[in-house]
Amino acid sequence: MTPDYDVAVIGGGAVGAAFAALAVRRVGIAAARVIVIERERPPAPVPGADYDLRVVALSRASQRILTAAGAWEAITAARVSPYERMRIWHESAPVEGPGTLVFDAAELGEPNLGHIVESRLVQTALLAVLDASGVEIVPASIEGLALGVGEAVVDADGRRITARLVVGADGGRSRVRELAGLEARSRDYRQQAIVANVVTARPHERTAWQRFLGHGTLAFLPLANGQCSIVWSVGNERAAELRALSVEDFERELTAALDGALGAVRLASGRVSIPLAATRARRYVLERCALIGDAAHTVHPLAGQGVNLGFLDAAALADALAAARAQREDPGALAILRRYERTRRPHNELMVAAMGGFNDLLAVGQGPLARLAQRGLGLVERAGPLKRLLAARALGIAGELPAAARR
Ligand SMILES: Cc1cc2nc3c(=O)[nH]c(=O)nc-3n(C[C@H](O)[C@H](O)[C@H](O)COP(=O)(O)OP(=O)(O)OC[C@H]3O[C@@H](n4cnc5c(N)ncnc54)[C@H](O)[C@@H]3O)c2cc1C
Repeated sequence: MTPDYDVAVIGGGAVGAAFAALAVRRVGIAAARVIVIERERPPAPVPGADYDLRVVALSRASQRILTAAGAWEAITAARVSPYERMRIWHESAPVEGPGTLVFDAAELGEPNLGHIVESRLVQTALLAVLDASGVEIVPASIEGLALGVGEAVVDADGRRITARLVVGADGGRSRVRELAGLEARSRDYRQQAIVANVVTARPHERTAWQRFLGHGTLAFLPLANGQCSIVWSVGNERAAELRALSVEDFERELTAALDGALGAVRLASGRVSIPLAATRARRYVLERCALIGDAAHTVHPLAGQGVNLGFLDAAALADALAAARAQREDPGALAILRRYERTRRPHNELMVAAMGGFNDLLAVGQGPLARLAQRGLGLVERAGPLKRLLAARALGIAGELPAAARR
């Protein structure tokens, strides 16, 4: 018996939806042979409405992958906020001093360093691509999974779906990961990221501002309407204190935490806090099952890498399936899926470890090693080749890239 589908994607978040679109558009799997199971499909943002609180900084590689997936045009037509500079500094040094690391798109010969985009806009634009191409999106939650020899069987709220390959793209608390018995290690940072949109007295100059605070990290991401989206990562106790502050007191603390770099800061939205953890699946694949995006790994948001890594996973898995298709091989075969795992897992492991290291040394570190790392920002600023390498990494265009992420 032929399974109902070639690919069943569990989770139609940005990463799962991008993978499903690439499976159709790049791998060439018929839309009728791809299904997405998403338990909570959000509506598209209303044009002209306030910015959502959840935004992501998308790298050049992600922009290319979203273009290949057919969603970038709709995203830019709605609203994106390109940013042209980054300023990264530690609280032990002034922002205008030599200790600040500055990346400038013009110096790199790039039009920008990336784009800030609402998470919901990325997701809904991708889901609209799937609708238009005829991929079925089922509003259900995965309840069961059995990985058999010739097929995987999914229980989606009582509906039985069979597929050659099940892709777990259901986020950091992945049910697919759990049902498949794919073990994961987790590190609770005991931190919360407080997110909000703010108005600043001085213009943001299309610059992403990031200050390491000694007790956390504060990022101001520039939005096209002149506001900034903030991500303020602090320990759980401090987060509770900050949440309990009146609006005026919170604004005063926030202005001080950025050392007045953008003048007085006023809240333009409510405040939401999100607990932070790093998760790493020991393996990403089994016969008939692969994990991508946050289901495989979550990282500290201090360098804005999470969804960018997820899009690279989606594109790399699409490459592995395209190669399998050319050879008429089964897309759920372990040998095919291991190619994907071999490409992506070492890279993601490195990024999870690097983000953890940045947090421990730059964001909350106090000892001599931490002080050395903090001085390192200024040293990198003055070391041309290393700085260029880091800039290429930030743009997401360094190293070996999956086909959809190449120029
Ligand atoms: C404060 C903060 C700031 C961030 N900033 C950035 C940034 O600037 N740049 C960046 O690259 N990344 C950033 N990230 C990380 C980024 O948000 C995540 O990496 C990204 O959302 C992961 O996408 P995903 O599609 O893998 O998972 P998710 O976005 O979690 O999507 C999973 C989907 O699966 C669905 N689902 C879950 N369980 C089930 C189930 N049982 N059945 C069916 N469907 C299910 C969910 O409804 C959801 O739609 C940030 C994260 C945080 C917390």
